[in-house]
Amino acid sequence: MKIPFNKPYLTGKETKYIQDAINSGKISGNGLFTKKCHKYFEERYGFNKCLLTSNCSNALEMTALLLDVQQGDEIIIPAFTFVSTANAFILRGAKIVFADIEKERPNIDVTTLEPLINEKTKAIVVVHYAGMACDMDAVMALAKKYSLYVIEDAAHSLDAYYKNRPLGSIGHLSTFSFHETKNIISGEGGMLVINDAQFCERAEIIWEKGTNRSAFFRGEIDKYTWVDVGSSFLPSDIIAAFLYAQLESFENIQKKRIAIWNRYFNAMQPLAQQGFFNLPNIPDYAMNNAHMFYIIFEDADLRTQLIQYLKQKHILAVFHYLPLHLSPFYKDKHDGRLLPVTVNTSDCLLRLPFYYELQEQEQNFVIEHIKMFFEDKSK
Ligand SMILES: *Cc1c(COP(=O)(O)O)cnc(C)c1O
Repeated sequence: MKIPFNKPYLTGKETKYIQDAINSGKISGNGLFTKKCHKYFEERYGFNKCLLTSNCSNALEMTALLLDVQQGDEIIIPAFTFVSTANAFILRGAKIVFADIEKERPNIDVTTLEPLINEKTKAIVVVHYAGMACDMDAVMALAKKYSLYVIEDAAHSLDAYYKNRPLGSIGHLSTFSFHETKNIISGEGGMLVINDAQFCERAEIIWEKGTNRSAFFRGEIDKYTWVDVGSSFLPSDIIAAFLYAQLESFENIQKKRIAIWNRYFNAMQPLAQQGFFNLPNIPDYAMNNAHMFYIIFEDADLRTQLIQYLKQKHILAVFHYLPLHLSPFYKDKHDGRLLPVTVNTSDCLLRLPFYYELQEQEQNFVIEHIKMFFEDKSK
C-alpha cells in the first residue's frame, strides 16, 4: 500500500462544466461560471463581494494594491506562513514585520502585536492555520485602536468559523486558495473577498488590468478605459467551471473530510496522552473545517525519525512552513527579534496524509504504523 500526502479529488462534473464553458463560446475571465462562483460564495457566507483570481497569491497582491502599500510601509505577518503572504507586500516595497505564533496553535500571537505597531504600520495579516480561527475580536480591536487594516489570509479556511462568523468575512479584505492541496480545488485558483465596501469598485478595476471594463459590461459606462494600476488577476472561465463542479459537492467533501479528521484525532489521543506529541488544540471560538491534520512533537528528532519510518512503509507525512524571518531572502532584512515558537513549531510539526479519497483501510494503515513506531520506541 502506498499513501501519498495529498490526492486531488475530482467530483466527476468538472469536465462537463468545462465543456459547457467551451460550448458557451466565452472562456476568458468573468464569464458565466465565474459569476456563478461569486454568487455562491456571497450567498453562502455573506461575503460582501467576491472576485475569483488565478491563485491566492494574486489575491494577496491585490490586497497590497488596494491598500496602496508603498515603500516604507510596514506590514505585520506571522513568520509561520506560506511565502506568498509576505511576497505580496514585498513586491510593493513594504517592510515585513514578522510576528510570533501562539504556543497552543500555529496562529499569530495577538498578545505580542502591540509593541510591533508604529506610525508606519499599515496592516496586520492573519493566517488561520489549518482553518483554525485566529482570535479575531482581539485582532480587530487592535486594528481599530491604531487605524490599521486587517487582511485574512484564509487560504486554509473555507467553511471555517470564528464565533459563528465565517472566516474571510471579518477582515477588511480576505483571500482564499483553490490550489489542489486545499479543501475545494481548481488546480490553481484563488479568490479575493472585499468586506470593506470602500474597496469594491477599485478591486474590480485592479482585477481587470486597471480598466473599468467590469462596469462597461454591466452597461454602467459607455466605453471602458485605463483608469488605474492593475493586472490580469482573473482566471479563465474554464477554471471557474472546474471550481463550480467542486462547489456542488462541497457539503459532501466537507462531511467526508471531517470524518477523516475525527478518526485521526480519536486514534491519536492515546499516544498524545502518553506524551509523545500534542494534538491540534482548537479554541472554543473556532470551528474545525478539516483542512489538515497535524501533530506537534516536543522535539525535532522524534519527528524526523517518524517521517523516515513512515516513508519506509510508503506513507508520506510531511513538515510544513520554514520560518520566513530566517529564510535566505529575509534573514538580513529581519530586525533580529527571536521568534521562538515559530522556530519550534516549524521543527516539530508533522502533517499526516489527508485527502477526500483516503479510505478507512488506508487511514488505518497510517494509524497502525504510527502506533508501531511508538511501541518500538517504548521498548
Ligand atoms: C496555499 C496558500 C497560499 C497560496 O495559495 P496559492 O493559491 O497557491 O497562491 C497562501 N497562503 C497560505 C497560508 C496558503 O496555505
